[in-house]
Amino acid sequence: RASAEKFEFQAEVSRLMDILINSLYSNKDIFLRELISNASDALDKIRFLALTDKEVLGEGDNTKLEIQIKLDKEKKILSIRDRGVGMTKEDLRKNLGTIAKSGTSAFVEKMQTSGDLNLIGQFGVGFYSVYLVADYVEVISKHNDDKQYVWESKADGAFAISEDTWNEPLGRGTEIRLHLRDEAGEYLDELKLKELVKKYSEFINFPINLWASKEVEKEVPADEDESIDEEETSESSSSEEEGEEDAEKAEDEKKPKTKTVKETTYEWELLNDMKAIWLRSPKEVTDEEYNKFYHSLAKDFSEDKPMAWSHFNAEGDVEFKAVLFIPPKAPHDLYESYYNTKQSNLKLYVRRVFISDEFNELLPKYLNFLMGLVDSDTLPLNVSREMLQQHSSLKTIKKKLIRKALDMIRKLAEEDPDETNDKEKRDVEESSEENEKKGQYAKFWNEFGKSIKLGIIEDATNRNRLAKLLRFETTKSDGKLTSLDQYISRMKSSQKDIFYITGASKEQLEKSPFLERLNKKDYEVIFFTDPVDEYLMQYLMDYEDKKFQNVSKEGLKLKDSKTKELKESFKGLTKWWKTTLASDNVEDVKISNRLADTPCVVVTSKYGWSAYMEKIMHSQTL
Ligand code: ADP
Ligand code: MG
Repeated sequence: RASAEKFEFQAEVSRLMDILINSLYSNKDIFLRELISNASDALDKIRFLALTDKEVLGEGDNTKLEIQIKLDKEKKILSIRDRGVGMTKEDLRKNLGTIAKSGTSAFVEKMQTSGDLNLIGQFGVGFYSVYLVADYVEVISKHNDDKQYVWESKADGAFAISEDTWNEPLGRGTEIRLHLRDEAGEYLDELKLKELVKKYSEFINFPINLWASKEVEKEVPADEDESIDEEETSESSSSEEEGEEDAEKAEDEKKPKTKTVKETTYEWELLNDMKAIWLRSPKEVTDEEYNKFYHSLAKDFSEDKPMAWSHFNAEGDVEFKAVLFIPPKAPHDLYESYYNTKQSNLKLYVRRVFISDEFNELLPKYLNFLMGLVDSDTLPLNVSREMLQQHSSLKTIKKKLIRKALDMIRKLAEEDPDETNDKEKRDVEESSEENEKKGQYAKFWNEFGKSIKLGIIEDATNRNRLAKLLRFETTKSDGKLTSLDQYISRMKSSQKDIFYITGASKEQLEKSPFLERLNKKDYEVIFFTDPVDEYLMQYLMDYEDKKFQNVSKEGLKLKDSKTKELKESFKGLTKWWKTTLASDNVEDVKISNRLADTPCVVVTSKYGWSAYMEKIMHSQTL
């Protein structure tokens, strides 16, 4: 079209499209759920806007918040239409031409090597999956604030936008027309589409309707000369008995002639039943349903199942229903930019209406790895997002969500046979169900352990609960993870404090002179080898009435009867050391009972940074 404005795709988008259009990836099905998911998002947006301004919905068909799928078998076009918020011309240019989310290039790279597209939706580029099945795509869109436009592209590095003067007016919303490639003919099959919607879009909260064909038999007056038609008629009634047919013929002789023909009619067929899983009783929802719900929430369609979930109903002053999931894996950028990324992955609904998935008031930052949803009847519906954000009920909701989340994590550990101290229990033949739970906490710890540590640092109220979830290796744990409770249960009767040491690696720490004496005396020492552990230990002062003692710091007390004697006899030497090293080099020189073979060590003062912390701080200022 001459009037069309032409644009080039952002280089990254172009590269992604190239890969998609040339992809031999076998699971091309995913494009449909991405389009349905976008349609659902657009419907959520207009429904949210309508809460405070009814006018935006318009009237007539425009008020029907639904998704429609239509096929044109002759022209090989599959179209998906929604009555959502729509896109202005500028939206079309920006949303379908550039990539907003960071990390996309990492995804493109990974996709190129692994060919795995399952996570495409998580990277904010789901739309482009249309080029797995189509070589030409038109997006027709009408936003309340603009005219109707057509965006089109053949995935050749460029796209065009024109004012739409030839299609039927949409009223409001978006219609996406996929001109399917020859190899993608299967998507013109209604059964296939029904199956896909069932499989991937079951939890969409808007009706998904398919313009479905239906064969109906119809009596029509028979023409005079229709030997061919007669054959068709007899075919459709071939199951009938010969005799009956004869009788019918005989009757036909008397009556004016009619015949039965098959006719194809079309009507909208609803493909999903829009049951909200969180409104159902947890007892009635199957594991399979929770798994599927997780995948649709997380836009993660890999085979991995969530590690755990918690579905509950909070009653009292603030009523809400919630489902929380622990994902199977940490997202690629969970800790990369911890202090400036989007916080929560929770969707907030008020009385079944989606409000936002960017409400950071629902969960503290350290729990931002959880996926889930909250639906509250207590929050008001017709107020702005900003006002809702300040609503006092949110504090109560947050408190309960944290409690439930920590309970869920604790249970993950409790149900894990690897987590018990009881060796017999750990080693007995387990039923297959228990086997599945074996090692699940270690898996959790690998993916999200850092979040628990960040929680200890940030959440003073739940510090003790979080400390219970802490895992680490020790001088005696034999390469396995252990907990503070287990450590305490093994403590010697003479031991008052919990001993730990910090450093870059276990291997390095094992050689530390600070451990010599403790090892000899059979004390267990915790290894903290993550840089965050240094910060952690500034916040974690005690656990179950036991203090933490860094064994490389001043204050380590081991029962030793000879110390007093030694102190006396080496008084002269220590004094000489002190004066020789002067006060700005060392604070004090003392007789130690922490060493066995090494003659002397430098320790840091109780309140100062540990040597490892010095190192971390030093590397950060460089
Ligand atoms: P994401 O959905 O993660 O943002 P997509 O690639 O699927 O990424 O879509 C890109 C953007 O295009 C969306 O964020 C949205 O702004 C816009 N968009 C896509 N489909 C529609 C639609 N049916 N109605 C309105 N906007 C849409
Ligand atoms: Mg999308």
